[in-house]
Amino acid sequence: MNNPGFVVTDTGVVLIDPGSSVQVGRRVLKQINTITDKPLTHVINTHIHGDHWLGNQAVVEVFPKVVLMAHPNMIMEAHAGAAEQWVSQMEQLTEGFTKGTRAVIPTVSLLETTKLEAGGMTFRIHAPDKAHSDTDVMIEVVQDSVLFLGDNVLHKRIPRLDDATFKGNIAACDVAMGLEVKHFVPGHGPAGGVSIVKEFRLYLETLYNEVARLYEEGLTDYEMKPIVLRALIPYSAWSNFYDQLGRHVSLATQEVEQDSF
Ligand SMILES: [Zn+2]
Repeated sequence: MNNPGFVVTDTGVVLIDPGSSVQVGRRVLKQINTITDKPLTHVINTHIHGDHWLGNQAVVEVFPKVVLMAHPNMIMEAHAGAAEQWVSQMEQLTEGFTKGTRAVIPTVSLLETTKLEAGGMTFRIHAPDKAHSDTDVMIEVVQDSVLFLGDNVLHKRIPRLDDATFKGNIAACDVAMGLEVKHFVPGHGPAGGVSIVKEFRLYLETLYNEVARLYEEGLTDYEMKPIVLRALIPYSAWSNFYDQLGRHVSLATQEVEQDSF
């Protein structure tokens, strides 16, 4: 489902988002094994959505001493019930394939200024506020000039934005674009250069601005939808575009309404 990533350091492996279930996590470990037999030292989870981190269980089974890290909000939300919710949601979505998966919640908080040094590599953590889920971190691998974006940017795929804010997500794209990084890895879809961030930012900005303009004209979200659709036609081939459009228009309308008070 998502894009797991890993970085081989001098002393071990740092894994970012081991996937959606114990089954997927085991497959990710198998892939890592084809490249290196070094131990996993750290796992970083980009945010609360279970498709990114329920694979933690597979890592802990093999490397019980691994350090599991995430945004403090993610750790809090997971303990407050989101973990259990995601375990059952993944089981439903996969029609039982992920059965046996249990939530292994990270224990170490990553804060805005945190820089993780591991095996000669530097991982800079960027934690944009209220972006995709209000639990988000983006991980910059300094020596490799790579940024793992989490779901703050998707490529060729439209995300669920139910836990996002348009303005915060756009600001997260600006943070990403402001870094001197060559390679960008989105939460879902193919990796690329800075153009993938620009492209996704433009989706959010076009949608939000169109909704704000039509809201001023007094249209309801239902009336806005066909007009917004025309403005977003370049994205119509992305997966989930038609599934999410109505929802995104209504989420943007709520945000515009709140911002106008
Ligand atoms: Zn997500």
